[in-house]
Amino acid sequence: MARCDVCGNEYGKAFQVTQGSSKGTFDCFECAIHAMAPTCEHCGCRVIGHGVEARGRIFCCAHCAEEVGVHHVKA
Ligand SMILES: [Zn+2]
Ligand SMILES: [Zn+2]
Repeated sequence: MARCDVCGNEYGKAFQVTQGSSKGTFDCFECAIHAMAPTCEHCGCRVIGHGVEARGRIFCCAHCAEEVGVHHVKA
């Protein structure tokens, strides 16, 4: 049994996610996303897919990057 870092649920099928130097234990992907997914700098939504990384900043899509003045990025 492992306990979810986000909601505290103890669940036999909990899994671990490692991201760089940080690691977390979660009972479901929703909790994992809540704890680890980056947020778009423009609209604030969770970046679940590849997203767009431009000049060290993370956006959900090329449009959001454009909106804050980061031009010519490919989604
Ligand atoms: Zn959870
Ligand atoms: Zn966005």
